[in-house]
Amino acid sequence: MSRKFAAFIATGVALVVVAGALLVLALGHERQPHPTAASSQPAPPPSAGTPSTTPSGEPTDTPSNNAPPSTPRNPAADPTASLVKGKNKKVLFFSFDDGPDPYWTPKVLETLAKHNAHATFFELGNMQAAHPGLREQVLASGNAIGSHSISHPQLTAISDAERHRQIFDGPKSTCFRPPYGASNPKVRKDIKDAGMVQVLWDVDPRDWARPGVNAIVQNIMNNARNHNIILMHDGGGDRTQTVAALDKALTLLAAKGYSFLAMDCKQP
Ligand SMILES: [Zn+2]
Repeated sequence: MSRKFAAFIATGVALVVVAGALLVLALGHERQPHPTAASSQPAPPPSAGTPSTTPSGEPTDTPSNNAPPSTPRNPAADPTASLVKGKNKKVLFFSFDDGPDPYWTPKVLETLAKHNAHATFFELGNMQAAHPGLREQVLASGNAIGSHSISHPQLTAISDAERHRQIFDGPKSTCFRPPYGASNPKVRKDIKDAGMVQVLWDVDPRDWARPGVNAIVQNIMNNARNHNIILMHDGGGDRTQTVAALDKALTLLAAKGYSFLAMDCKQP
């Protein structure tokens, strides 16, 4: 083979490699969740006051799909990090938003206990005030509580003073999950100044939309990876499907070797 020919071949191979790398980069970029997806998409109008039990007052924590919304979790301030670090165990973190609800929260607690599982409940200040005793019941059974604001507004769309109130005067915890996953630098600063860390989620099986028990279970089974946070709801409406799906998913996931822990959210 002549030198010229060899050089020609080498150049061709190099070009193919470079083009391939660029294509991979471009595709990878497409798959990245938009960093401000949660806050830039039009969230449904927040229901006034506490989430009602009517279908119209349905709170929706994420408008889209299973992509993690907004910011990546900061490992240093991650309430799951200390629980999985250096351990080989397969662990998932179930979380329940928009409660406590006098009917559904005890049903979720019962289902968790049946499977020797624990979870984290991101509660609303208004719901805690309206249903005294449930907060204590959640904690007494070994679960954790985070704040989900007072009344579930979209924190990126309200005044500075109201955002501050919703974050500082909500349920007491070191963990905070913004309603709809809607966050921005101002929200994150308030959360930090209030002594909390922002906690989002990895898997959203869309239980709030009541897509059917099997759809919720399948979504969890298809998407949950070791150490993931799974978003579900114990408030905001009829949670029959959520409770049934939780029961099924815990059975299937336990068979795959998973255990289920509450996050490290403290009650200051
Ligand atoms: Zn919510």
